[in-house]
Amino acid sequence: MSKIDVSIVIPFYNEEENIRNLIDAIHRVMNENPWEYEIIAVDDGSDDTTWQKMKELASENDRFRPILLRRNFGQTPALAAGLDRARGTRVVTMDGDYQNDPEDIPLMMSKMDEGYDMVSGWRKNRQDPFLSKKLPSKLANRLIQKVTRVPVNDLGCSLKIYKREIVEDINLYGELHRFLPVLAKWAGARIGETPVTHHPRRFGKSKYGLSRTIRVLLDLIAVKFLMKHSTSPLRMFGGAGFVSIITGILAFAASIIMKFAGVQNLNRNPLLVISVGAVIVGIQFILMGLLGEINIRTYYESQSKPIYLIRETQNFDE
Ligand code: UDP
Ligand code: MG
Repeated sequence: MSKIDVSIVIPFYNEEENIRNLIDAIHRVMNENPWEYEIIAVDDGSDDTTWQKMKELASENDRFRPILLRRNFGQTPALAAGLDRARGTRVVTMDGDYQNDPEDIPLMMSKMDEGYDMVSGWRKNRQDPFLSKKLPSKLANRLIQKVTRVPVNDLGCSLKIYKREIVEDINLYGELHRFLPVLAKWAGARIGETPVTHHPRRFGKSKYGLSRTIRVLLDLIAVKFLMKHSTSPLRMFGGAGFVSIITGILAFAASIIMKFAGVQNLNRNPLLVISVGAVIVGIQFILMGLLGEINIRTYYESQSKPIYLIRETQNFDE
């Protein structure tokens, strides 16, 4: 098999009416361009005819490579299944509902040529319901930008392109696919952004509602923690622990002083209870940090994971 320039990875869950239109459009765009490509379509356990459609498409063109998961695992695992099998120098991800436009791929490719490791699409003119999608997404994006300092305006946009090394260095869990730019930045990627076209969903239903916002916020806490403290949990928990213990000691000292100054008896002073609580919580924090340290060592050492990532070397080739 010759070298592949681009792998296009797409998860599908009950998208029987969208898949053919989308895949045909991708073939059309890619054939107008010089790149060797493959399309990796993952059927995330659909219970409609998506898989039949995929088998037809595969027999028509061997650049179309479908994968069927045993059950519905969710968008992130489906995406991961495809990414694990991508062979291209670059990897494009997009949705299978034909809301993203394959016409944008050449645009993103040339943006990558400017020297980025990843380019994220930005649905400037997003065609989705305002209250359940656009508004929460806007607020969440603001917050995520503030917290992670990753300058991407539209994390939820699935149309993105990466150098393959970047995705190879990232492990996806839960619903973390939307945090890929954040994880990519953590992996040292130079990140660009480009406006992309967005169409309303023509067929099928959206798989998500408003409740997604809460899950995204919880994921944000996890991602922030992993980015900042994944190699030193004791520093974070221990810091909180010290503050708590010192507060407890001060409260205790204050209640002793108040007793001898005749202001308040020890047994009637609420500060005494606070001091006991704060010291116990503080000790718990430090112990939690120590447990974290043990976990971190298991994580890195059991998989021989380095705590660094290399962009380039010279004269090191074996
Ligand atoms: N999807 C999937 N597994 C799921 C849910 C969704 O593979 O459990 C796919 C879905 O087929 C689509 C993409 O993920 O290609 C995005 O889903 P959707 O369009 O419903 O999300 P929205 O654009 O409404 O946020
Ligand atoms: Mg969609």
